[in-house]
Amino acid sequence: TPPKQRKPDWIRVKAPVGENFSQTRKLMRDLGLATVCEEAACPNIGECWTKKHATVMILGDTCTRACAFCNVKTGMPRVVDPLEPQHVAVAAAELGLEHIVVTSVDRDDLPDGGASQFVKVIEALRRETPNTTIEILTPDFRNKSEEAVARIVDAGPDVYNHNLETVPRLYPTIRPGARYYASLRLLEQVKRLSPAIFTKSGVMVGLGEQRLEVHQVMDDMRSAGIDFLTMGQYLQPTPRHATVEEFVTPDAFKAYAAIARAKGFLLVAASPLTRSSYHAGDDFQKMQAA
Ligand code: SF4
Ligand code: SF4
Repeated sequence: TPPKQRKPDWIRVKAPVGENFSQTRKLMRDLGLATVCEEAACPNIGECWTKKHATVMILGDTCTRACAFCNVKTGMPRVVDPLEPQHVAVAAAELGLEHIVVTSVDRDDLPDGGASQFVKVIEALRRETPNTTIEILTPDFRNKSEEAVARIVDAGPDVYNHNLETVPRLYPTIRPGARYYASLRLLEQVKRLSPAIFTKSGVMVGLGEQRLEVHQVMDDMRSAGIDFLTMGQYLQPTPRHATVEEFVTPDAFKAYAAIARAKGFLLVAASPLTRSSYHAGDDFQKMQAA
């Protein structure tokens, strides 16, 4: 086995300690909610949870897929928890979230792919925390996507996020269960059905993609009307996962960000530790205030 790749100095994270951190964890445990912060082994958990920013992962903690970059466990998921929507709303209220990001595992086992649970979560949040803006980060719903997306758009989230994750050439190895153009079309559908919903997508870099391929992905996103872009460094969660091919420098991220802005994205977040939900609320509010 090759020696473990040393992380460069710019990948520095805050240790997960402190009272807010423990309170956030306890709240999630008490409500039986999973978070992508924990399940994906997100490097920002120390910083985010200290500010009581957590991203809930609905439909359980077990995914029906096994993407090569993702730490979420794969297997046969449990039955859908009917109390989950209400629990998400309680969590949003308790954490005092002005903006909540709700994501899920892939549920290829469910007839609707889990779309109705997203709808119920949005409804519960609108009811219990009407001032909280809602960002959802959904799976691709495979061959049920048209109906699933239509139902979720109808529920009216503020931001609809779905990540392309990487360049099309790397899909067979990195995101084997998904199709690049199906994911693009999903986001295009959201925009077509409801232009008022902001659409958002993201890619990880450091997986062996070329710079020009990333620029092409940006163009594809803009052609699909995608408003917000996030870009971050891929980090290998365990030795079983895809290896890091490159640590992209902070300057290279700045260059990507400048190009993305020139291509017309309304919001661009690009840095080594950027994740889909990293500072999502702050950025969204800043944009709305501008
Ligand atoms: Fe959680 Fe997102 Fe923060 Fe990571 S960046 S800890 S997933 S809120
Ligand atoms: Fe992880 Fe999502 Fe892939 Fe499931 S579908 S393995 S949660 S990235």
